[in-house]
Amino acid sequence: MQLSNINIRDFRNYEALSLQFSPEVNLIVGDNAQGKTNLIEAIGYLGSGKSFRAQKTSELVRFGADFAELSGAVFSQERQQTLRWVLFPSGRQRQLYGNGVKKKTAGEISGVLQTVLFCPEDLMVLKTGAAPRRRLADHALCQLRPNYEAALTEYNRILEQKSRILKDRFENTALLEILPEYNTRLCQVGALLISYRARFFEGLGKAASVYHGQFSGGKEDFSLQYHTVSTVKDPFASVSVLAEDLQAHLESHYRAELESMQCLTGPHKDDFDVNLSGLSVKTFGSQGQVRTAAISLKLAQRELMQRESGEMPVLLLDDVLSELDPGRQDFILNQITGGQVFITCCEPGRFTKLGKTIEIEKGNVK
Ligand code: ATP
Ligand code: MG
Repeated sequence: MQLSNINIRDFRNYEALSLQFSPEVNLIVGDNAQGKTNLIEAIGYLGSGKSFRAQKTSELVRFGADFAELSGAVFSQERQQTLRWVLFPSGRQRQLYGNGVKKKTAGEISGVLQTVLFCPEDLMVLKTGAAPRRRLADHALCQLRPNYEAALTEYNRILEQKSRILKDRFENTALLEILPEYNTRLCQVGALLISYRARFFEGLGKAASVYHGQFSGGKEDFSLQYHTVSTVKDPFASVSVLAEDLQAHLESHYRAELESMQCLTGPHKDDFDVNLSGLSVKTFGSQGQVRTAAISLKLAQRELMQRESGEMPVLLLDDVLSELDPGRQDFILNQITGGQVFITCCEPGRFTKLGKTIEIEKGNVK
C-alpha cells in the first residue's frame, strides 16, 4: 500500500499543507520542533484514527482553529482510495469518510492504510523492563490476529478478577471457594496466548534475523528467545497440554499467591530476549546494537503483516538515525525496499537515493 499524497489543515502546527509522496523512501528533514513528528502522527492517524501520543482528539487541532482536517489518497487493495477525517477541538464527534462515503467507525477503513511506527521510545525497548516489551509484542500480535486480541482482553479481565479475590479474601473468606474456577479459566485462556505467542515470536525472530544481518553488514548473528512460564516445556504443544503446564505452575505457587495477594504466575509475566552473536542484548548490547535490533524487529513486524494481508504496511520511522554508524544509517536511508517508508531526522545533509527529501520548517515545506 502507498500513500500518494496528504492534505493537512489546522492539524497540530500545520495550517495548510499539501504533499506528494514517493512510493519508496520519504525523508522528512528539519530542525527540532518544526513538525516532523506531527507529520508522522498525521499519517498514522489518517489510516487508523489513533494517535500514538495524543491523549485527546482536541490536542490534534491547531490551537485556536475550529476544526482540523486530514485527507489523503492511498493505493491499496488494488485500487485508488481516499480517506478523510474532520476533528473538532470541542467534544463534538469526529467525522470519517472513506472514498467519499461517511463511516461510523475506524474499523470500517481497517486495512486501507496500515502503518508500522517506530518512535524514539521503542529504541530502548530491548534494554528496559519486560512490560514495554510485552506491550510491543501484544500490539503487533493484535494487529495481526483479531482472535488474539479477544483472548488477551479475556485473560486480562480474568486476571483482574482474580487479583480482586486475592485482595478481598480476608473480608470475604467465601471468595476462596471460587478461586479454583478462576485459575482453571486463566490457564485455558493463558494457554491460548502462549500458543499464539510461540508462533509469532518464531516468525518474528526469523524475519528480524535476516534484517539484522543486512543492517549490521553481516557482523552480528541475531536470535530471539521467547520466555514463558517455566513448567511449559514446549510452547508449540497443544493448547490443552499448555493449560496443564500452567495449572501445575499455579498449584506450586498457590500458597505464595495467597500470601503475597498477587497473581504471580502466568503468561502476563512473559518476556523475550534478543541475542547478538550469542550475547544477550539486554545485558551486553551497545547503544547502536540495541537500536539496530529494535529496528530489525519492526521491519520483521512489517513483513509478517504483509504475509498475512498481502499488503506491505507503510513504515514510519521517527528519529531513528542518531547514534547509528554510517553503514547502519545507509541501511535505513537507502536499503529498506519493498514498501513505502517515512523517515524523520534533524541531521542536515542526510539524503536518500530511493525517494525524495522533504524539508519542513515551522509547519511548512521549506
Ligand atoms: P523534534 O526534532 O524535536 O522531534 P519535531 O519536528 O518532530 O521536533 P513536532 O513534535 O512535530 O516537532 O512538534 C512541532 C511543534 O508543534 C511543537 O513545538 C508543538 O508546540 C507544536 N504543536 C503541537 N500541537 C499543537 C497544536 N495543537 N497546535 C499548534 N501547535 C502545536
Ligand atoms: Mg520529533
